[in-house]
Amino acid sequence: MRVLIGGGSGFVGRELTRLLRDKGHDVTVISRQPGPGRITWGELQSKGLPPCDGAVNLAGENVLNPLRWWNESYKKDLFSSRIDTTKALSQAIAASSSPPHSWVLVSGVACYKPSLTAEYTEDSEWTPFDLLSQLVKEWEAAAFLPESAAKTTKQVVIRAGAVLGRDGGAMKQMLLPFWLGLGGTLGSGRQPFPWIHVSDLAGIIARSLEPPADSGAAQPSPQVFNGVAPAITTNYEFTKELGRLLRRPTIFPVPEFVMSALLGSERAVILTQGQKVIPMKTLESGYQFKYPDLTLALKQIVGS
Ligand code: NDP
Repeated sequence: MRVLIGGGSGFVGRELTRLLRDKGHDVTVISRQPGPGRITWGELQSKGLPPCDGAVNLAGENVLNPLRWWNESYKKDLFSSRIDTTKALSQAIAASSSPPHSWVLVSGVACYKPSLTAEYTEDSEWTPFDLLSQLVKEWEAAAFLPESAAKTTKQVVIRAGAVLGRDGGAMKQMLLPFWLGLGGTLGSGRQPFPWIHVSDLAGIIARSLEPPADSGAAQPSPQVFNGVAPAITTNYEFTKELGRLLRRPTIFPVPEFVMSALLGSERAVILTQGQKVIPMKTLESGYQFKYPDLTLALKQIVGS
């Protein structure tokens, strides 16, 4: 299978590329930078979709980029880096004379309103309630194929929780403070912390790229899968387990107002609030998690 991955140079994309190549598939990355095995977004727009059997979009400015202040220009980049690239791919698919059989967007669980009690499955109704949920709405809408294209291309949206892995994402920023014994719960610590190991997210994407069992399976609306581990974890449990595996104390809680001052309140919610997200459809699809619980996932990441 030939797979085109927008933003495939990043944390999740590198894992997905490894997995697909191990299975014998060909991968081409769409990037802002030209290079071997890559095309640029400009080339996609000027030359159209290259021949491919599956397409994925993983492009997006990092929401927790520690080098960027929370201001209007950063917010604009968060939106445009996701929506413009997703639109470029969905339009190229719709315009292609030999479209791929599968088109997968990875979005986020920020569409579900943070709550200590509510549980969300892929069937849960939601409407935007803040900036990040508005982002998810516009992002997913940008992936939507017109009816004619949806007849030939299966559309999938995977709503990912915090992606945990050794080589990127939130863990990369967390490991140093935890090693130094400066790790601690964020906000109350009671908030749910929806997470997934990067290897499982790559596995769910790879499965979603497989051709539909019968060609009549292509549907006008995308299939949605929650990309989170089945175990529900709180920030407190996550913090204590990471500290235990690293054999480091976790006695310095970071109050919510400090997180808001450091990150901006609109993005601090990613860490200080959370949702109980259930991967109901993901499990129903038969996907078997390699890292269904936190201890297994963290042991792989910290290597103990
Ligand atoms: P990365 O931060 O690693 O970024 C992926 C790629 O996006 C980069 O390699 C880069 O490719 C491209 N990119 C970065 N900034 C911009 C920009 N301003 N404009 C256009 N392209 C840009 O992402 P991840 O691999 O961690 O995540 C993949 C997707 O999953 C993202 O869309 C992310 O929002 C989503 N997601 C990730 C979560 C996580 O915890 N990591 C959680 C939930 C959702 P290049 O430089 O080659 O152009």
